[in-house]
Amino acid sequence: MTFTNGQQVRNARLAACDVPNLLEGTHVSYKAEYIWIDGTEPTARLRSKTRILADGADLPDWGFDGSSTNQAPGDNSDCVLKPVFSCPDPIRGGENKLVLCEVFLVDGTPHETNTRAKLRPIAEQYAAQDSWYGIEQEYTFFKDGRPLGFPERGYPAPQGFYYCGVGADEVFGRDIVEAHMDACLAAGLKLSGINAEVMPGQWEFQIGPAGTLEVGDHMWVARWLLYRIAEDHDVSATLDPKPVEGDWNGAGAHTNFSTKAMREGYDAIITACEALAEKAQEHVAGYGADIERRLTGMHETAPWSEFSYGVSDRGASVRIPWQVEVDKQGYIEDRRPNANVDPYVVARLITGTCCAALEKAGQV
Ligand code: ADP
Ligand code: MN
Ligand code: MN
Ligand code: MN
Repeated sequence: MTFTNGQQVRNARLAACDVPNLLEGTHVSYKAEYIWIDGTEPTARLRSKTRILADGADLPDWGFDGSSTNQAPGDNSDCVLKPVFSCPDPIRGGENKLVLCEVFLVDGTPHETNTRAKLRPIAEQYAAQDSWYGIEQEYTFFKDGRPLGFPERGYPAPQGFYYCGVGADEVFGRDIVEAHMDACLAAGLKLSGINAEVMPGQWEFQIGPAGTLEVGDHMWVARWLLYRIAEDHDVSATLDPKPVEGDWNGAGAHTNFSTKAMREGYDAIITACEALAEKAQEHVAGYGADIERRLTGMHETAPWSEFSYGVSDRGASVRIPWQVEVDKQGYIEDRRPNANVDPYVVARLITGTCCAALEKAGQV
């Protein structure tokens, strides 16, 4: 690569001044990457920007131009960012931080798109039931407009060997996955594992067990880290629930759930399943855009329009793991949420439905 004349002049000027001396003393500040969820419809996206803060300074509220994120009109564009969760920034390292925020209006009320604010009162109401969540986030890497591992024309060999595979003919993007896993752990997120999925270029990571708000906080930051790290590899990661039409698995976000009573007895497990049956359509409506494209009844899914639950049944809407039936205690797996679901919405629906039913049944 050749430099333009202008750049050469600038470089020469830089070399002439005392750069090392200028850099000395920069430890008086750190970088805080403020992350928030925007107003894109039907599926919100992540946004972030950097603020330089004095060493040791608390994380202040901040603002952004809501007219560029589908969160405000141009003539009244200011939205407010309030930090709600922060962790070490594993990309920049040092004292730098990632800062997840809720979005507010300037009058101090939560923005309409702020789904975390809508979860807060429900989480508080049922806090005594001690809900745990484990969410399995499936996603697909894309490069040059097709999933990683797909040939330029046509299709790769049919599904069968990719899930938990090993070897260059079966696995695509492992270097990114490993870097993402290390980053999540360095950030202190409750990542509990990763695996290659059924379609080439498709992967999963799990967050949990974690609390009702915590699972969403950690999930959104883990998603941001995934996009950010894949960016360095010139690859994009998508949560599209059905990235390739036809005989290829979609991408979900199976949500594992338990309360203290469910971890101690089987009656509570059944109560939770029956409660989900009664509110089935309300839940499906909040489980991510385009859910009917994925929950077809094929590819390890139950049809979106029919609710079912069963032991060990990966073709049911809700699965009671085999070991849970043996132990007569544990958790349930709601297999319906799409990969593109908002974890704060899933937690609001499941806690609202199951904890209310458990309370009514006296199983708390
Ligand atoms: P699968 O067998 O469906 O692929 P995974 O191992 O991918 O399941 O994910 C299971 C998730 O459930 C993990 O995130 C795990 O931490 C979580 N989990 C385990 N026990 C509980 C529990 N009692 N309550 C809620 N979540 C749990
Ligand atoms: Mn899994
Ligand atoms: Mn999976
Ligand atoms: Mn699962």
